[in-house]
Amino acid sequence: MTKLEQLLGSCITDPCHLPDDAGITEKEKEMLSAIAKRYPISIPPYYLSLIDPKDKDDPIRKLCLPSASEQASEGTEDTSGESHNTVLTGVQHKYAQTVLVLTTNRCAMYCRHCFRKRMVGYRNEEILDQIMGVRNYVMHHPEVNNVLLSGGDAFLNENEIIREYLDHLTDLDNLDYIRFGTRTPVVLPMRIYEDEELLSLLKTYSAKKQIIIVTHFDHPRELTPQARMAVQALLEAGCPVRNQTVLLKGVNDDPTVLASLLNGLVGIGVLPYYVFQCRPARGVMTQFQVPLLRGAQIVDKAKEALSGQAKAFRYALSHPLGKVEILGLLGNEMLFKFHQAKDPKNAGRIFTMKVKEDQCWLDDLQ
Ligand code: SF4
Repeated sequence: MTKLEQLLGSCITDPCHLPDDAGITEKEKEMLSAIAKRYPISIPPYYLSLIDPKDKDDPIRKLCLPSASEQASEGTEDTSGESHNTVLTGVQHKYAQTVLVLTTNRCAMYCRHCFRKRMVGYRNEEILDQIMGVRNYVMHHPEVNNVLLSGGDAFLNENEIIREYLDHLTDLDNLDYIRFGTRTPVVLPMRIYEDEELLSLLKTYSAKKQIIIVTHFDHPRELTPQARMAVQALLEAGCPVRNQTVLLKGVNDDPTVLASLLNGLVGIGVLPYYVFQCRPARGVMTQFQVPLLRGAQIVDKAKEALSGQAKAFRYALSHPLGKVEILGLLGNEMLFKFHQAKDPKNAGRIFTMKVKEDQCWLDDLQ
């Protein structure tokens, strides 16, 4: 059994096995079990230990334990048009410079706000098992200058698979850098700092081609000494670490909490680069979406407490048309700007739209 398999073997995947000291009643476990039949759970013991068992509204609890609102029917399955951007099984090419590879469907933790809810925990055609296919595709598309290895969680691949990807991609001249999308520094940091083999191969290949780690911290209580050790190990292996946060109701929709997270990230060596508007994904939006007007106010207020490094991010939403930055209010309209556009004619386009108090997404706007 590999080290990774051992770590994953300890994750709790059945609500009935939640420990008594997690503060979950037997009745709650029954409810959680019913939801987990539709949307699976997986919680590493480390992450479970971050829950405050006395607080039923604990943000860490909301991030890892199901809630009844996941059964709500509102929302869609594919919020950013991934199916239209798929060029090979598990390979998406939405923006000219970037190829996104869904390398695995596995995650150490199944985050309750995951927009790929339809995907995690199941095998399906979006999972790539043809590394050579990615290589060939990138070779034949000289406009591509970076590959994002994502999932699921790219560090949930065994080290041998990670090595294969790096071996086949780091010698491609048109690539400037390779990114790994992973939440392991947050939910399973020992997967990184205890694994000399993983760190060694990252060090070896980052000497050939820049490797960047894109991670996903959502709350300041996730910034633990263990998370810091994982980040430091990645930095020592030559891999800068950047963060994307999702603005989530009941988790970080408070300027003080958001500022504490973003300042704290810089303090452990992570540069914040996106705060994302939560997508209208089924099983997610009802519980977690924050209205756009409120989101802009929270972000602006948080910025008052941020250093320049900590505000090196964009507040944006990822839409089928592209990544759209939410700039704020101009009179009674909201100002948006295309940060990345699927259609080049939208590149850099600035537009305004009227917003209502409860509107949470671009499609809601008039
Ligand atoms: S680690 Fe990422 S892909 Fe996996 S469940 Fe969490 S948010 Fe979704």
